Amino acid sequence: MVRPQARDIATLSRTRELLEKYGFSFKKSLGQNFLIDPNILQRIVSVAQLSRDKAVVEIGPGIGALTEVLCRAAGKVLAIEIDQRLLPILQESLAPYDNVQIVHGDVLKLDLHRLLAEHLSAYEQVSVVANLPYYVTSPILMKLLEERLPLERIVVMIQKEVAARVAAEPGSKDYGSLSVAVQFYAEAEVAMTVPAGVFIPRPNVDSAVLNLRLRERPAVAVEDEQLFFRVVRACFAQRRKTLYNNLLHNLFGKENKEQVISLLQAVGLDPMRRGETLSLAEFARLANEFARLRQAAASGNERV
Ligand code: SAM
Repeated sequence: MVRPQARDIATLSRTRELLEKYGFSFKKSLGQNFLIDPNILQRIVSVAQLSRDKAVVEIGPGIGALTEVLCRAAGKVLAIEIDQRLLPILQESLAPYDNVQIVHGDVLKLDLHRLLAEHLSAYEQVSVVANLPYYVTSPILMKLLEERLPLERIVVMIQKEVAARVAAEPGSKDYGSLSVAVQFYAEAEVAMTVPAGVFIPRPNVDSAVLNLRLRERPAVAVEDEQLFFRVVRACFAQRRKTLYNNLLHNLFGKENKEQVISLLQAVGLDPMRRGETLSLAEFARLANEFARLRQAAASGNERV
């Protein structure tokens, strides 16, 4: 079969042509801002360090602007799109490529382990590369990380402020529970910032490309992951409050002042510090000691 010639999708003229041909109108509620700058696409792909022996999962291919560049750089591309109206457009725009598989569905609801096993099992290294819909950035990132998908990297275009929060270091104003949650699973860096003008329609915010390199094992050893994240969330619950106050009101309950003090003493943390100054290792110490206290209390029938 002779496949049609590839014409770059990520140009304003080709994008307009496709949108008009199919009478497509953008849905803001689905975070639809399509890339129209081939240079940005090349830069995203170079951050992802793809090669023919690697596979890629793309979330939200839109009309295929990034998908096409991924098809040229990787061995296989699995692209998940929620908006059914885009499927016929993708069929036309990606017709020149035989290494792409489009899956229709909501990435938050799909069984990604199964999809990877079904479509990409021939590849040892799989990365996620995507220009994410901004309304669901954090749930998507957390799903990819918490489900422990066998991924090498996650390279995603997201809102600049969110990228800064994900990659923030302890003590900075952007550091919060999202930074801890992501950095627990991955090394995070902001690879580049991207102006609003490279999208159609133009979003109200600037964007950045976040580069996550997944760790072989979590950054710190914790007894109980759920408990670790509960402790982290409690410590950040009210940013202006001290560790002592946040733990008292959001984890222990206000009648347990002494237990909070003795927990903090046991791990050598100053009760007057704020959650935003704690490193992952300090959160792990705190959570592990809390887990130990709970176990001790449970066996002695005390309440913690
Ligand atoms: N990749 C294209 C590009 O760069 O031009 C489009 C990116 S656009 C920011 C986000 C895409 O994600 C849209 O195509 C949208 O329909 C799709 N999308 C939104 N929510 C989704 C979800 N829950 N699951 C899968 N795709 C989704």
